[in-house]
Amino acid sequence: MGYNIAIDGPAGAGKSTIARLVAKEKGFIYVDTGAMYRALAVYFLDRGIAPEDTCKIAEVCKSAHVSIQYENDVQQVYLNGVNVTGRIREEEVGNMASKSSSIPEVRAQLFKLQRDLAKECDVVMDGRDIGTNILPDANVKIYLTASVETRAKRRYLELEEKGETCNLEEIKKDIEDRDYRDMNRKIAPLKKAEDAVVVDSSDMTIEQVVEKIISLCK
Ligand code: C5P
Repeated sequence: MGYNIAIDGPAGAGKSTIARLVAKEKGFIYVDTGAMYRALAVYFLDRGIAPEDTCKIAEVCKSAHVSIQYENDVQQVYLNGVNVTGRIREEEVGNMASKSSSIPEVRAQLFKLQRDLAKECDVVMDGRDIGTNILPDANVKIYLTASVETRAKRRYLELEEKGETCNLEEIKKDIEDRDYRDMNRKIAPLKKAEDAVVVDSSDMTIEQVVEKIISLCK
């Protein structure tokens, strides 16, 4: 079993930025499980399936195989052997992933891949159900959160920097909807593991959050 750091939390809490930096500092592999759900979402979108068509998604996901590789320490996601990393950050992909991730067959498709990675390597794995479901015995569990306002503002600035037009209120609403779906689904909902340490990053710098997590690793 590798040394496992699990980081869960709502969308926009800064999980991927923090997890990447913690992994770098510790010399561990960073595993972004959201990217895996996004890769499956690409598969459903390419087949013209609506997010509401849960039966179809449950049926076709069995033929969608996700794998990951690392190129210069950066995670690359493959869907049936094709690198889809360049597509997974599209808005419609995020939307589809947020909905299709509540379907049991979709989660089952990724369960073993995530578990096996943590068994074989020292990892920092981020997602929604890592501490509660995927790695219940993780050495360190973090529930990383921030207020909805802070998360919306961060996302707004990120999009603005990319030159995309955006509306703060719409972003806030989208984050609230995603939180609701993640926290209220029947299977593997987002919640703090009993033994997770809560880190609220609303008033913390990235460095402070990284330092806090490193200090919890023995
Ligand atoms: O973290 P990210 O936004 O990339 O994740 C995309 C979607 O995948 C999320 O909206 C969430 O619903 C889902 N997800 C999940 N379980 C995980 C990681 C992500 O349900 N472990």
